[in-house]
Amino acid sequence: MQLIFELSKKGRRGVQIDPLDVPDVSPPSHLCRHTDLRLPEVTELDVVRHFTRLSRRNFGVDTNFYPLGSCTMKYNPKVMDRIAAEPGFAQLHPHLSSCPAFLKECQGALALIYHLERLLAEIGGMDAVTLQPIAGAHGELTGTLLIAAYHKDKRNEKDLVLVPDSAHGTNPASAAIAGFKVVEVPSAPDGTLDREAFRAALTERVAAVMLTCPNTHGLFEPAVQQIAEMAHAVDALMYYDGANLNAIVGRCRPGDLGFDVMHFNLHKTFATPHGMGGPGAGPVGVNEKLAPYLPGPRVTKTEEGYELSEPIKSIGKIAPFFGNFLVAVRAYAYIRMLGAEGLEAVSANAVLNANYVLSRLREYFPPAFQGNCMHECVLSAVPFLQHGVKALDFAKALLDKGFHAPTVYFPLTVKESLMIEPTETESRDTLDAFCDAMIELARDASESPEKLHAAPTTTPVGRLDEVRAARELNCIYPA
Ligand SMILES: *Cc1c(COP(=O)(O)O)cnc(C)c1O
Repeated sequence: MQLIFELSKKGRRGVQIDPLDVPDVSPPSHLCRHTDLRLPEVTELDVVRHFTRLSRRNFGVDTNFYPLGSCTMKYNPKVMDRIAAEPGFAQLHPHLSSCPAFLKECQGALALIYHLERLLAEIGGMDAVTLQPIAGAHGELTGTLLIAAYHKDKRNEKDLVLVPDSAHGTNPASAAIAGFKVVEVPSAPDGTLDREAFRAALTERVAAVMLTCPNTHGLFEPAVQQIAEMAHAVDALMYYDGANLNAIVGRCRPGDLGFDVMHFNLHKTFATPHGMGGPGAGPVGVNEKLAPYLPGPRVTKTEEGYELSEPIKSIGKIAPFFGNFLVAVRAYAYIRMLGAEGLEAVSANAVLNANYVLSRLREYFPPAFQGNCMHECVLSAVPFLQHGVKALDFAKALLDKGFHAPTVYFPLTVKESLMIEPTETESRDTLDAFCDAMIELARDASESPEKLHAAPTTTPVGRLDEVRAARELNCIYPA
């Protein structure tokens, strides 16, 4: 496929510029450009066809099922985009809010921030929330910086953060950037935290324990409350990675489980389409221990309206203005649309769908762990290794059948893992079509493994040389 620059033909135009209706002045020479703008010369139709063609090579939730474990690639109602595009939100200049003279111009936006923070605090069982962080990982960094500020303030000499081996890679990375040393705690054979190893690792030097619950094995941590009690006994704080919140939202609150601080992934749980690095938001909720350290400014409600204030011991700003505000608009609209009942249905369907997939596939792909799962299931492709077929081959072959691959080779603790998160928005028909495809591939893997090795054959780019692709990022592959 050609680049738009390669479509360029001298003299082609997409727009006609109106004649000048202001005096033509010549700016000083040093402010003028002396070479032509490097823009492609194309017609409007060239542009429309080019980008429409490109968009059809895209794989997205709007076209296909996307069961990428841990990522919650669910369908987000389009009405949220429409609301976020309202000029009162989308055209608002972010500097308005930081200028006292203009504060009254953006009372609606500040009200939305205030109320979304209250809603998220209620959902998480937290006392206060900041919307500033702009990704889940950024929320983790904010949370661990808050934890560092708390211990510094209390003159606690703590330098360690405990992270289970099943954690998302961002957890140890965030703790390390915040200045902590990370201690990995192994999982027990049943996929939950190894309680003995945890007990041994939990010393006075531990500043925090980072957990996600359900964990990335798709399992609810049964001892989560005892873990929190043990951590609090040494004044370590409990951090909740909220990326898996769709498993429990509306029926169980991290704050009630004993967590002191958490992040939400608005782009996973609360209706912002994501993937490919698009804008996200990772608001952080805290209980009263950490509230004084939150990033500022905070939106407060007074008799006169919404105002801004700075928390006394604030760690400062973590992102410009109020983070990705339009993501917050979508989340607010989504939460208000669903209400408490709707949120409870989210977790019911997320867990039901994952268990449906688990029960249909378990006889072909052995589950990594016993029993039911929460919002995602972890299966293994180990039985097919004897035919030379790996988890990666299933991932590639699914593409030919019109499905995005599950997460493969994560969690790292499971050999040849396939981590499937169907999400709450998929119908039984879609789940059945996916399971049928997986079962067909399981048969092919035993009977004609070469079929899986050749896949994908229907995508714009076929099977890559993985090693070469990783090393030579800019080499051009034949389309
Ligand atoms: C996605 C994810 C994160 C990181 O969130 P980003 O918004 O991608 O930075 C952290 N933990 C878990 C379990 C996740 O699935």
